[in-house]
Amino acid sequence: MEHVLPYALVPDFPNVYVCGCFERWVSIYLQSVRGLNLAWALSESGRLERGARVAVVGGGFAGLTCAAGLGQRGMRVTLFEKGAQLLHTQRQNRVRSIHPHIHEWPRPGSLEPRAGLPLLDWRAGISAEMAAEVLRQFDAEAARSRIEVRTGVGPTLAQLDHDAVILALGVGVEKSFGALPLRSYWSDDTIAEVRPGPPRHHLVTGIGEGGVIDALYLRLAGFSHAEMAARLTEIPEMRAVEAALIEIESQIAALDDAAANAVLWDGYRRLPVPPEVDALLRRRARPDTRVTLNGPEPHPLAARADILNRFLISRLMLAGELDYLPGKIADISADYQVTLEDGTRMRFDDIEIRHGTFPALKAGFPEVWERYHPARVKLPHLTPAPSWPEGYFATSS
Ligand SMILES: Cc1cc2nc3c(=O)[nH]c(=O)nc-3n(C[C@H](O)[C@H](O)[C@H](O)COP(=O)(O)OP(=O)(O)OC[C@H]3O[C@@H](n4cnc5c(N)ncnc54)[C@H](O)[C@@H]3O)c2cc1C
Repeated sequence: MEHVLPYALVPDFPNVYVCGCFERWVSIYLQSVRGLNLAWALSESGRLERGARVAVVGGGFAGLTCAAGLGQRGMRVTLFEKGAQLLHTQRQNRVRSIHPHIHEWPRPGSLEPRAGLPLLDWRAGISAEMAAEVLRQFDAEAARSRIEVRTGVGPTLAQLDHDAVILALGVGVEKSFGALPLRSYWSDDTIAEVRPGPPRHHLVTGIGEGGVIDALYLRLAGFSHAEMAARLTEIPEMRAVEAALIEIESQIAALDDAAANAVLWDGYRRLPVPPEVDALLRRRARPDTRVTLNGPEPHPLAARADILNRFLISRLMLAGELDYLPGKIADISADYQVTLEDGTRMRFDDIEIRHGTFPALKAGFPEVWERYHPARVKLPHLTPAPSWPEGYFATSS
């Protein structure tokens, strides 16, 4: 309970709870765990009793799992989504391969393809197919628990007279930069397309998860995290590398982002990586792209990216298959000219901007954001584990 409720409570707003809008480690699986953890904690602590009227705001994975969990525990739930459809971000994308546990690589269990959730469970696969699997189950849960779904509605707190309001708005709205329009990570279905003709020079700016994943799609043909991790597992000498990677995590655990950046690059450069790994990556390198990755830090590896992404990026860099351009960008023109703060100018054929998100909580509920923010930053960043006991939620099918 102490790993769940303190994250959700908002000072001065006794019936408002925040679910997964602010965490550092965010994935579809982790947000689903946060949704179910909160449903369990509110029900189990007695804060919400059967029959309580609950508004869940946000129709992403956190909102859907929380609504389904509360519905099963006898609450009268209304789910509000300001977009036209539930899971509108992921349901359209036919390129991104999503895996529930790959962020744990190389730890045990990271290749398990099933999420293993009691409600709205799913298997690794293409984004749109995984979303369809979850939506099918959610429809069944909504019918069974009489969850009212209202899409195209972004309510204010004043419009909600429920016993409790759960804000499951996600981490936020992606940002563009300079003169380029927003091209969302989830809307770009051409990124994996190998094109004929001479190589095009792409800039990917941002070395968090979105940026490094895009660099991998652009540089490696047919890229999928799960497939690549499976190939690495087949190389026996990788066991020593995996142990060294875990050791590096303990070295950066207490460091801030700037200090971790140097330690990561130094550590990854020295790994005893067998030649088969680089040979595998060279075989997969796309002939139609040249990719430059850009970040504000001096080195290309950030603590805010997963180990597998960092490892693949480091190998591509060391093999000369990927470039790194350090420095903050001051401007990007509509014809893809980039100016760094130090005055350096470069032109690219295409640019992916992965600079994180504008907080949805701040945009939609500024009064809650203001009160929640100071309390929230005092809490440590936790990767959530399922808190509910087995059998607490009846498995959906
Ligand atoms: C660039 C990028 C790449 C990512 N890649 C991956 C990946 O490969 N794999 C992965 O697992 N995760 C990835 N993530 C994280 C991914 O977005 C989340 O895992 C997932 O979308 C989280 O679900 P959620 O419900 O918390 O948030 P969201 O999916 O953002 O859902 C929140 C919902 O709330 C709605 N909403 C917001 N404000 C309001 C309001 N005021 N009123 C009503 N509704 C509102 C939104 O419209 C949205 O539908 C990525 C994120 C980004 C930004």
